[in-house]
Amino acid sequence: MLFQDIIAKKRNGEILSKKEISHFVKGAAQGTIPDYQLSALLMAIFLRGMTKEETLTLTLEMAASGEQCDLSAISGVTVDKHSSGGVADTVTLVLAPMLAACGAVVAKMSGRGLGFSGGTIDKLESISGIQLDLPMERFIRQSGEIGLCITGQSASLAPADKVFYALRDATATIESIPLIASSIMSKKLAAGAQCILLDVKCGTGAFMKTKERALELAQTMVEIGKGAGRRMEAVVTDMNAPLGQTIGNSLELIEAIETLKGKRRGRLLELSLLLGSRLLLLAELCRTEQEGKTLMEASIADGTALGKLRAMIAAQDGDVRVLDDYALLPHCRSSFEITADQSGYIGRIQADQLGKASLALGAGRSVKTDTIDYGAGIILHAGLGDFANKGQALATIYTNRTGIEAEAASLVKNAFHFEKIAPAEVPLYYYDSK
Ligand code: URA
Repeated sequence: MLFQDIIAKKRNGEILSKKEISHFVKGAAQGTIPDYQLSALLMAIFLRGMTKEETLTLTLEMAASGEQCDLSAISGVTVDKHSSGGVADTVTLVLAPMLAACGAVVAKMSGRGLGFSGGTIDKLESISGIQLDLPMERFIRQSGEIGLCITGQSASLAPADKVFYALRDATATIESIPLIASSIMSKKLAAGAQCILLDVKCGTGAFMKTKERALELAQTMVEIGKGAGRRMEAVVTDMNAPLGQTIGNSLELIEAIETLKGKRRGRLLELSLLLGSRLLLLAELCRTEQEGKTLMEASIADGTALGKLRAMIAAQDGDVRVLDDYALLPHCRSSFEITADQSGYIGRIQADQLGKASLALGAGRSVKTDTIDYGAGIILHAGLGDFANKGQALATIYTNRTGIEAEAASLVKNAFHFEKIAPAEVPLYYYDSK
């Protein structure tokens, strides 16, 4: 099979066969096809698209290009949630312990943050000693024993995706629905859970800026998951405003812990309950959405959800004392407040501006190799729809960096938009594949 014939076929808008797709995925994983040919094919796919069948085949081949996690030895229904990434999106750390407390097995491989999107692994890494690079046998054993394990993505999972992603990043071919969907879903399928829920974010602080694109991505991924025999759902949720009240790794971890202690409510908990009830329904661990939410609320009230997080941290060699003593987490030398320049209702809080501010403060990475400051970040004191008086504190900024105060302050201040009348409530989600 001549590789230039496969490129020409896709360039001409034709449909690739299973054999052709399998050939280029295997060639990518084994390093037998030069980057320039793979890049040309990726651009042809970007421009010409793929049918549903081609996209499913591509995903299955990518999932099969490396190690696949076999969770079949675990008794109980395995569940996984994936977020396409956003600002102050701490859902995993709230949701996963609640699901485990309700009888689901959360065997989750999570990612690190990049750009202004945070990553669960970075947040957990704020805990001293915690192991987040678990070998597969330990990941499976712990998931079975505790019902909860969150680890970094195994390097051997979907190696073809790593090759494609690096080339896409360098050749302006990231924003293609078949390429994004196959990239995300190949890793989710290889991670092995029976039930998968996708939280596709849309808005200024998300990868997908419009509802239409987010919806198309969500539907494509649901079709792939179902085509691969998994129980699948997707929800398109709002990421114009930050979800929680904190941005930054240890700050977000504290917010998740406080939520699991029942001390915080708000959109972070609301979305966690919504997504959790969908997963409990998929896993047949509740009969209605309301019953699922009630079970999860009960797991907060009786401490079992926090107990699951404690058990997970202990099993992964982390310092569990952080759950009761936040001073043991990384924190910053300096902090300063941002105050309102005018009085009014807060009509918009731009997630992307706050994400950029947190990057400037040291809480995130611009490129994969950047080191991060686990203590840096922002605490928001005012939320969407609140009335703020001139001079009132809108946010507190935490950093160890010097010389960035003015830039961060202006980004945070400009993220808040004031209105004279109370704004309509921003919906939590726009679409639900249920
Ligand atoms: N996340 C992924 O894992 N892959 C993409 O292509 C985009 C976002």
